[in-house]
Amino acid sequence: MTGQAGATVVAERASQQERRALRNFIGGRFVEGGKPFDIYDPATGLVHATAYEADKAIVDQAVRAARKAVEGEWGRMTLARRRALLIRVAERIEERFDEFLEAEIADTGKPHELAHHLDIPRGAANFRVFADAIANLSTETFEMDTPDGGKALNYAVRKPLGVVGVISPWNLPLLLMTWKVAPAMACGNAVIVKPSEETPSTTTLLGEVMAEVGIPDGAFNVIHGFGPDSAGEFLVQHPGVRAITFTGETRTGSAIMKAAAPTVKALSFELGGKNPAVVFADADLDAAIAGLSRAAFLNTGQVCLAPERIYVERPVFDRFVAGMKGKAEALRAGLPNDHGTTLGPLISDEHREKVLGYYKLAVDEGATVVTGGGVPKLDGAAANGYFVEPTIWTGLAHDARVCREEIFGPACAIIPFDSEEDAIRMANDTEYGLASSVWTTNLSRAHRVGRAMEVGISWVNCWFLRDLRTPFGGAKMSGVGREGGEHSINFYSEPSNICIKL
Ligand code: NAD
Repeated sequence: MTGQAGATVVAERASQQERRALRNFIGGRFVEGGKPFDIYDPATGLVHATAYEADKAIVDQAVRAARKAVEGEWGRMTLARRRALLIRVAERIEERFDEFLEAEIADTGKPHELAHHLDIPRGAANFRVFADAIANLSTETFEMDTPDGGKALNYAVRKPLGVVGVISPWNLPLLLMTWKVAPAMACGNAVIVKPSEETPSTTTLLGEVMAEVGIPDGAFNVIHGFGPDSAGEFLVQHPGVRAITFTGETRTGSAIMKAAAPTVKALSFELGGKNPAVVFADADLDAAIAGLSRAAFLNTGQVCLAPERIYVERPVFDRFVAGMKGKAEALRAGLPNDHGTTLGPLISDEHREKVLGYYKLAVDEGATVVTGGGVPKLDGAAANGYFVEPTIWTGLAHDARVCREEIFGPACAIIPFDSEEDAIRMANDTEYGLASSVWTTNLSRAHRVGRAMEVGISWVNCWFLRDLRTPFGGAKMSGVGREGGEHSINFYSEPSNICIKL
């Protein structure tokens, strides 16, 4: 199909009024087959698309197509050509920006402004970043003495792993999926993506883009479906897949690890968190309130890095809580394209039930509800959307269940502390270790506390700021391995040593 952009790609995009049909994309084309399932618009509760669940035979078809790509045109392609194609993917996402935007908004209900500034641009940027990252890599060389008094030269060559399975979540669908697809393809692997069953639209659209720009058949494949006993598990179990890169819940990571064990796959996991923030009395308090209210409520709290526990030094506790309350109450829930909407819905009714369960539990555990705690009253189409109020609690013990378990909603507990040691101890007292955010104007303390945090990324006086070349991942039960820049390249390729006796 390479080079026949558009002509043979049957994207099956229905008119605005009809449901979109999201087919599995295998070997450069959309294929028939699979059991249909509904995709909901969380802002309205209405079905907006139908996806087709890949069974074992379809997953096998995808693995065979991917293998063929690795052994064929994609595997033989020069690095220069591969890089040029990945840059074309980024450009094509930008050219079709509005379609990606509309698809992401339909699946997630997130505010237009957010998807416009974060999700879609980062989706395109990931391809540029990894096209660059692959350009200037060196490998190791060692000249050695041999027992017979001669010399031998050892040098490593970097090879792709082969077929890589990418399993992604629903909170930042395009952004998180391309964060793994781009480096995997930059290294010359063929990928099979299993997007979240809640948010398959932008991944499907990316299939069209791959075909349009001339990515060889089978280098990028999409299979739809669920996790256990469905496309996700079939992909993990398949002996033809050499690596699984996964973003999602910790307990899903554990299930994947188990299912991948018989075929000893390489694994990279970005998992859940229960992230602490620490605000010292010497911090710029207005900046801390602005930064941490954004951190707690962005994407309706459905960000793995969001701080759900905020420890505040006692002298500034009341002022901080009042400031956060003001910010939470200024958020406007509503439809994504309505002017002034700053808070979207949760992803599903089921997830809303889970979050509301924590809202109730917090009260049962003795919380003072500073603001929120319920469901906002909305009119019109949004009345049936999966909205909840942004919520702040005080008065909770640091070891309450709501302070230990990941909620993944717009909620945080604010807890006072009296000493730096106390703050560090409470922040680290968790099985998770994804991210932390420390606020202080004392440079030595910034480094000391930032370093003491048992996390993959420790922000100081900021949150969500990242150079994409830096290592990203979680400590403890928040992940396995690191991705980002060269760290991604190291996961998606393996060195093979050649030793020549001279
Ligand atoms: P999830 O674990 O429920 O699902 C993620 C993906 O895994 C989906 O595509 C799902 O279909 C698939 N899956 C589920 N069970 C599977 C199985 N047994 N085998 C194979 N695949 C399976 O996660 P979610 O609810 O989509 O996303 C929210 C979670 O993701 C939160 O815990 C959040 O913290 C985490 N997350 C982490 C990061 C990070 O960078 N560390 C980023 C975003 C989200």
